[in-house]
Amino acid sequence: MAKWVPDHIVIGAGFTGLLHAFLALEKGESVLVLEKRESTGGLIRSVRTEYGIVETAANGILNCWELESLAARLGLDILISNPTSKKRYIFSDGKMRRLPLSIFEIISLVFSTLTVPSQPLPGESIYQWGKRVLGEKTLSKVLEPALGGIYAGDLDAMSAELVLGKFLPEQAPLWKNILHLRNSRKGKPKILPGRRGTVSFRGGLGTLLGALEARVSSQGKIKYNQDITNLKELRVSYPKSKITIATNLSTALKLLKSEYKEFKSYQGMLDTLPIVSVTRFGRDSILNGKRGFGVLFPKDHKSFSSELGIRSRGILFNDFIFSGRTSDGIHSETFIMGGAGDREISSKTEEEIISVVEEDRKKLFSEGGIPLNHYVTIWKDALPVYGPQLHAFNRDLDRVLPGEIRVEGNFRNGIGLKSIIERAFSLYHPNLSA
Ligand SMILES: Cc1cc2nc3c(=O)[nH]c(=O)nc-3n(C[C@H](O)[C@H](O)[C@H](O)COP(=O)(O)OP(=O)(O)OC[C@H]3O[C@@H](n4cnc5c(N)ncnc54)[C@H](O)[C@@H]3O)c2cc1C
Repeated sequence: MAKWVPDHIVIGAGFTGLLHAFLALEKGESVLVLEKRESTGGLIRSVRTEYGIVETAANGILNCWELESLAARLGLDILISNPTSKKRYIFSDGKMRRLPLSIFEIISLVFSTLTVPSQPLPGESIYQWGKRVLGEKTLSKVLEPALGGIYAGDLDAMSAELVLGKFLPEQAPLWKNILHLRNSRKGKPKILPGRRGTVSFRGGLGTLLGALEARVSSQGKIKYNQDITNLKELRVSYPKSKITIATNLSTALKLLKSEYKEFKSYQGMLDTLPIVSVTRFGRDSILNGKRGFGVLFPKDHKSFSSELGIRSRGILFNDFIFSGRTSDGIHSETFIMGGAGDREISSKTEEEIISVVEEDRKKLFSEGGIPLNHYVTIWKDALPVYGPQLHAFNRDLDRVLPGEIRVEGNFRNGIGLKSIIERAFSLYHPNLSA
């Protein structure tokens, strides 16, 4: 029998791979997905435990019209976060604060926002950008914890052009760029005000991944236990198929090197960061009567130390964010640790990591009770470092690769799922996204 030759091969069945496979199928292409493991989802998995749902990576996704459209096409209802969870805290001067800046710091920030050119300068790090555009206090009290919570990175090593460039296209003060961003969204499909912010699905983000997998496997084909190690060989076997590499960064580089010499120089240059997440179930909440989304802990940009010696980067208050996340009367908190400055935590045992969580928690809430359960997830190389090397790599991907080869993932347009989905829609539906 003649070999089936798909129009499109997708390597990797995490969120990126399944999404690209889904969009390609919708365009009428025949699609084969090759996944290394025996299940799909990649980093994302929603585990049901007797106390509630545990997310192994992303807990939510920032809503956008592309997600609304995807959910509708998959027949899924989006779960909106609870309005009472909107409060986000930053730990500063011994307290969880909604705005950690003094009145003088706010005045200075407003002045900078109105006057300082905000487009990143060539080669500027996030640290340099923050100091120049926002001032030292806002940098350390707001920008560091906010970006640290998303990228878990070292602000000195992160490229401002790569992380912020797409939001700051004009060499103008911040307020003008914000206005520019708002105007650039005019004419695009809108989401209703009540549906903005972080959203998920009943059963967790695994529900979205499960629906994508079901659609892709019914209309295309997913092959499991396929560890693809050589792009050249795959291209020889399927010379007429388009290929989308949707693996993690290090695997994508390995595959590219087998076919394109231009990428050999990136060996050892593209760093990734380990992340540890611990979901803790208990009968009390650190917020002790208050409600909120989560708390971030600013780190000193050189020593990576935090006030009170807190080791966590942040804590999410899961049962306040989304309804139905826990059984009655139980609270679920996810502690995020690791990243730049604390790679070591990923080599600890689960027991050691749990004791770090409990120590951190005691410092914040001394009268806290005993935990019911912990669920630990250790990702050794989950997050790419958004540094100048990655910026150059992305430019080379756009410059070197022929139209039939694409490389996609959380190292292209931003780490979050919103960035991945926006980029995918802009490739498959350029007229809608323009
Ligand atoms: C702890 C944590 C919390 C996060 N929280 C959020 C959040 O709240 N909101 C948000 O938007 N984002 C969050 N993120 C980021 C987001 O989860 C990831 O960026 C996203 O899931 C990456 O998806 P991906 O498909 O690109 O990569 P992956 O999930 O890594 O998928 C890659 C797939 O490729 C497969 N693969 C690898 N090598 C091969 C090979 N050689 N051959 C075949 N297949 C291969 C893998 O098995 C895997 O299935 C978080 C990440 C972490 C780690």
